Amino acid sequence: MNEQAKLYVEEFMARIVAKNPNEPEFHQAVREVAESLAPHIVASPVLQKMKILERIAEPERVIIFRVPWLNDKGEVEINRGYRVQMNSAIGPYKGGIRFHPSVNLSILKFLAFEQTFKNSLTTLPMGGGKGGSDFNPKGKSDNEVMRFCQSFMTELQKYIGHDTDVPAGDIGVGGREVGFMFGQYKRLRDEFTGTLTGKGRDWGGSPLRPEATGYGTCYFAEEMLATRGESFQGKTVCISGSGNVAQYACRKAIELGAKVVTLSDSTGYIYDPEGIDLEKWEYVMELKNIFRGRIREYAEQYPSAVYHEGQRPWGEKCDIAMPCATQNELNGEEAAMLVKNGCICVAEGANMPSTPEAIRCFQENKLLYAPGKASNAGGVATSGLEMCQNSMRLTWSPEEVDEKLHSIMKNIHEMCVKYGTEEDGYVNYVLGANVGGFMKVANAMLAQGLV
Ligand code: NDP
Repeated sequence: MNEQAKLYVEEFMARIVAKNPNEPEFHQAVREVAESLAPHIVASPVLQKMKILERIAEPERVIIFRVPWLNDKGEVEINRGYRVQMNSAIGPYKGGIRFHPSVNLSILKFLAFEQTFKNSLTTLPMGGGKGGSDFNPKGKSDNEVMRFCQSFMTELQKYIGHDTDVPAGDIGVGGREVGFMFGQYKRLRDEFTGTLTGKGRDWGGSPLRPEATGYGTCYFAEEMLATRGESFQGKTVCISGSGNVAQYACRKAIELGAKVVTLSDSTGYIYDPEGIDLEKWEYVMELKNIFRGRIREYAEQYPSAVYHEGQRPWGEKCDIAMPCATQNELNGEEAAMLVKNGCICVAEGANMPSTPEAIRCFQENKLLYAPGKASNAGGVATSGLEMCQNSMRLTWSPEEVDEKLHSIMKNIHEMCVKYGTEEDGYVNYVLGANVGGFMKVANAMLAQGLV
């Protein structure tokens, strides 16, 4: 980066930090993009004059609301609900809803900002948004979750719609929660439309939507590995998380011939040197999705595995690492351990799981490293396919959806290679994804005037 570009980044970030105090995750996500785009922006008088990046970093609208509900003891509980409608230049706002006690404006703004670039990369007409609540579904009964979801949607429904804003799932929001929210939306608005994605297969959901983020991350990693004549076959894989994304990343990695040796949750990780085979995977699916259990129980079920309380899996030896849990779950020291242990590829299933220090370490050591906004875009892409099917009022076969998902992931990879290949031939996927995602949004904003 030349001096002019460096100065642009520092001045731009000083304004972002002053205007959005106490939002470290948002600053982190914006800085990464600003650093990638600065050389293009300083070379373009029109991007500067029209303040395109400044406008992308300012949400079009943020809605914050009270969510009162009754727990099973009949007591009043109050949570805070949010929807960040970040950018609608290329389509209706689109992005998941997260239920987790850590949810705050900084986290949702970082997610909505990243979503804008990710959605653009899919080539589908979707803008960027994200929402959620500090509600913790863990340990709550189905009835409590339902009452919360109904109260949340009673307010949110005023601001969303199939041509306006189309939410989906994220951490703490899976099929059960989407079902309760969709039911309440339909009841209040008296319409059956594709306003939420991730719906059940019998009532408007797309085949393969639950699988899409994890599968897509593996498809993206396959493309990266192929650039070096490698594949998943025979490789050892470390995965973090044991939720939706981790589960299907694990499944696809097994199908592609890899040995997956770790899974985790927020209290620890399991290491199974014999590998998680399909039978063990079925056990994990039941444990997490039906019994809502903890990953520790895997080690009680399978003596080949060891449970490491309070630790993350990045110290284990692997060829491929797939962080699939949450933001900033892989730091610089852990990245150095992965490199030292011979890891060649890191594909992010989660959003922003690697810290800036970790990313620097991967890139300095020339690893194949894909940021989540490129590698996990298969989830929102398949949500986009669900919207298409809902509009047409028909359903494609799983094979058709899988083929489309596969081809979208290949296209995103090509776009990253196009915009991210450096002089020595190394593909900087961060640069590629940021520039590739930005172009379409910027052009649309220029064409639509100052709105
Ligand atoms: P789930 O709620 O299904 O699973 C989340 C997993 O991550 C759980 O194992 C959870 O453990 C763990 N986790 C959550 N918070 C923390 C934390 N603070 N520290 C350590 N572990 C944690 O969510 P998803 O699988 O849907 O989402 C995972 C990631 O993927 C998120 O970053 C999300 O934004 C991203 N993503 C999801 C998409 C989707 O389609 N679902 C699409 C694109 C990205 P525990 O049970 O202990 O909380």
